[in-house]
Amino acid sequence: MGKQRPAASPFRAARLTGALAPDDEREFGLALDRSLSGMLPALGGLFGLGVLLFSAWDYWISPQQAATTALIRLGLVLIGAIGYRDWDGRIPLAWRCALVYITHAGAMILSAALLPDGLLLALPAITGVMFPLALVEPRLLRLSALALVPSLLFLGLAAAQLPEPAFASSVLAYLVMLGLVAEVARFQGRLVRRNFLAERALRHAARHDSLCGVLARGYLLELASHDITLARRYGHPLAIAMLDIDFFKRVNDTWGHPVGDALLRAVSQACADLLRASDYFGRVGGEEFVCVMPETTVEEALACAERMRTAVGAIRLAIPRGEVRCTISIGVAGLAPGHAGVEDLLADADAALYRAKSNGRDRVELARETLPASERETP
Ligand code: GH3
Ligand code: MG
Ligand code: MG
Repeated sequence: MGKQRPAASPFRAARLTGALAPDDEREFGLALDRSLSGMLPALGGLFGLGVLLFSAWDYWISPQQAATTALIRLGLVLIGAIGYRDWDGRIPLAWRCALVYITHAGAMILSAALLPDGLLLALPAITGVMFPLALVEPRLLRLSALALVPSLLFLGLAAAQLPEPAFASSVLAYLVMLGLVAEVARFQGRLVRRNFLAERALRHAARHDSLCGVLARGYLLELASHDITLARRYGHPLAIAMLDIDFFKRVNDTWGHPVGDALLRAVSQACADLLRASDYFGRVGGEEFVCVMPETTVEEALACAERMRTAVGAIRLAIPRGEVRCTISIGVAGLAPGHAGVEDLLADADAALYRAKSNGRDRVELARETLPASERETP
C-alpha cells in the first residue's frame, strides 16, 4: 500500500495566526473579551492620560500650536472615554476597544500633524502605542482591524505633508513596526492561549472525578449550596439522592480492582445519562454518588431514583471471565425548612440510604424528615 498523504488541514490559516480549534478559539475569545472588558477602564484611562500628557511635548516642539493640539487631544480622549465603561453590555466590546484605540491613537497622529515635522518626530510614539495593544489584544484579525484606521490616517497625512524621501522612509519604518507588532501579537497569542488551555484543564481536573468523569465532591457541594440558597429564597423544591453500590467490596475481592473501577464508571454513566440537564451528579466517596435535582419534588426525585436503580440493575459489564452486575441502594431527601444547608440535606439522604441498606439493599428510601410528620414512623 502506498504511503498516505496527510489530509489538508482546514486550519492552515489558524496555524499561521496561532488560533485554536474553532470551539476552543470561541471559548478563548469569550474569556479574553471578559478580561479585556475588565481591564479597559484602567488601561483606557492610562492611555488617555498618556495622550493628554503628550501636550507638554507639543508645547516644547511648538508653543504656538500647543493650545490647538491640546484641544484636539482632550476632545478625542473624551469621546474615546465613552468606551472605557461597559454600559451594561449595550456597546459590544469590539466597538469599545475600537472607540478607545482609534480616538486615542488618532489624537496622537492628528496633533503631531499640526506641529512642524511632527509626524516624523512623533513616529516612535505613534508606532510605539501599537505594542501594548498587541499585548492585550493578540488576536491578529482584531488587532489589524483596530490598527487600520490610525494607520490610514497616518499614511494619508504623511503623504500630504512629507517630502517624498521622508514619506518613503517613514512609511517603511511604519511597516517594519507593523510587522514587529504582528510578531509580538503572535507570540503573546501563543502564550495566552497556552495559559487558557492549561487553566481550563486545571479547573476541569479540580472539578471532576478522575476515575468516573462526573463531578468531584467539592464542586458538587459548591453547586448544591448555591442551588439550595436559590431554592430557599424563591420557595422552590429541590431534592437529592445519595447512591451506594451494594456489596461493592465483593466485586473488588472477586474480580479485582480494575473491574471494580470499570463498574464504578459504568454505574456513574448509567445514572448520569438519566438526568435532566439541570440536574447534576457527582462521586462523593469510594462507591458513593450524589445526584442533586433542583426544581424537583420528592415524588419526582423518587421516580428518578427508581429509574437509576433499574438502569444500574440492567448493567452487564462484560469481562473475559463472564459478566459483572450490581445493584444500588438509594436514599432520597427533599429540601425542608429544618435544613440549614447542604450538609443537613446530605445527612438526611445518608440516613435514608442507611435504611435502604438495612431493609435489604437494591431499593430506594425517602428521608423521614421529608415525610409529613403523620407518616414518620419511629425507628
Ligand atoms: P454495602 O452494600 O454495605 O455498601 O457494602 P460495600 O461492600 O459496598 O461497602 P464497603 O464500604 O464495605 O466497601 C466499599 C468498597 O469500595 C471498599 C473499597 O475497596 C472500594 N472502593 C473505594 N474506592 C474505590 C475505587 O476507586 N475503585 C475500586 N475498585 N474500589 C473502590
Ligand atoms: Mg457499598
Ligand atoms: Mg459505601
